[in-house]
Amino acid sequence: MSSIRVAVRCRPFNERERQAHAEPVISVSGQQIAIRNPPGKGGGAPERKFTFDHAYWSGPSGTDASNGGEFAGQEKLFEDLGHEVLRNAMEGYNACIFAYGQTGSGKSYSMMGTDSEPGIVPRICEALFAIMSGTSSLPFLPAVDPASTETVNYKIEVSYIEIYNENVKDLLNPTQAGHNLKVREHPSLGPYVQGLTKFVVSSPEEFYRIMEMGNKTRTVASTLMNATSSRSHAIFSVEFTQLRQCAVSGLSTERTSKISLEGASINKSLSTLGLVIKALVDREARRSAGGNPASIFIPYRDSVLTYLIRDSLGGNSKTIMIAAISPAADSYEETMSTLRYADSAK
Ligand code: ADP
Repeated sequence: MSSIRVAVRCRPFNERERQAHAEPVISVSGQQIAIRNPPGKGGGAPERKFTFDHAYWSGPSGTDASNGGEFAGQEKLFEDLGHEVLRNAMEGYNACIFAYGQTGSGKSYSMMGTDSEPGIVPRICEALFAIMSGTSSLPFLPAVDPASTETVNYKIEVSYIEIYNENVKDLLNPTQAGHNLKVREHPSLGPYVQGLTKFVVSSPEEFYRIMEMGNKTRTVASTLMNATSSRSHAIFSVEFTQLRQCAVSGLSTERTSKISLEGASINKSLSTLGLVIKALVDREARRSAGGNPASIFIPYRDSVLTYLIRDSLGGNSKTIMIAAISPAADSYEETMSTLRYADSAK
């Protein structure tokens, strides 16, 4: 089974589109998304259809889902995609979740969400803390054996970086917001950012406070660099460690999973990410066809982004792409390019 999952999510019409009586060009049916030519560009037909692991519509307005598309609120997205990441994390595998699409298409909504409708990132975080405190009711967690002689300790560590023009900034070190960090390669652990701040967090509140601090630093840093957030990548990383110790033998095992979370627009390093994912898909296809997978080169080093999240892509890692789109005719070009991009990652 592929370790890359692609979900496309179509948001409802926004206020502007509603007032302008925008024409919907998207319909969702099962795992399929169909896009029609907008009026004036062939008007309505023909449709181009794409199939993904998941195709979601998010509200009655704008999207024609009368033919059976899957309504996806935030909880559904978390169940379909977040649970898989958590299950993987329990087994010590890494994961990467990223959302992309044009500005205003719903990337932050899917990743972060709102106070009343939290997105996939806060839901994953809350679930990790629930696992840590033994209060999680996730269906796939191993049952606790009362006779077990094993104790388990958990640790959650976070870091937050911004990549802009191939430079890396530490968003959790506000006094250094203007400073670029060096990317180095450890002989056995692989690429890392030298001197990066990492915080051990012990509650969701602390987690949000740190993320908030990083978001503020990001705004300040963008202003300093005269950059817009649509051209930079912010990657929030969560390292989840389980330390199991047997009371009888005294032996302990440690398992760490790194989850990288990102929301980005389509630009240069994102297309490098697209190329990396495409190469991983091709490699998997070659392996299942009995060929030599190593003959397909994975261009991790072509961008700082792919180099740094290399260990969260490919191998046993789970990569989840959420492609966010608008239903409206005036976003047709961008939506088409998002769908093509998502399609190339399958
Ligand atoms: P982006 O991060 O891609 O620039 P946002 O996530 O900020 O876009 O979304 C733009 C607006 O649309 C926000 O007001 C957001 O709440 C709303 N929105 C986006 N996706 C959805 C959705 N799936 N359901 C309901 N509202 C959404």
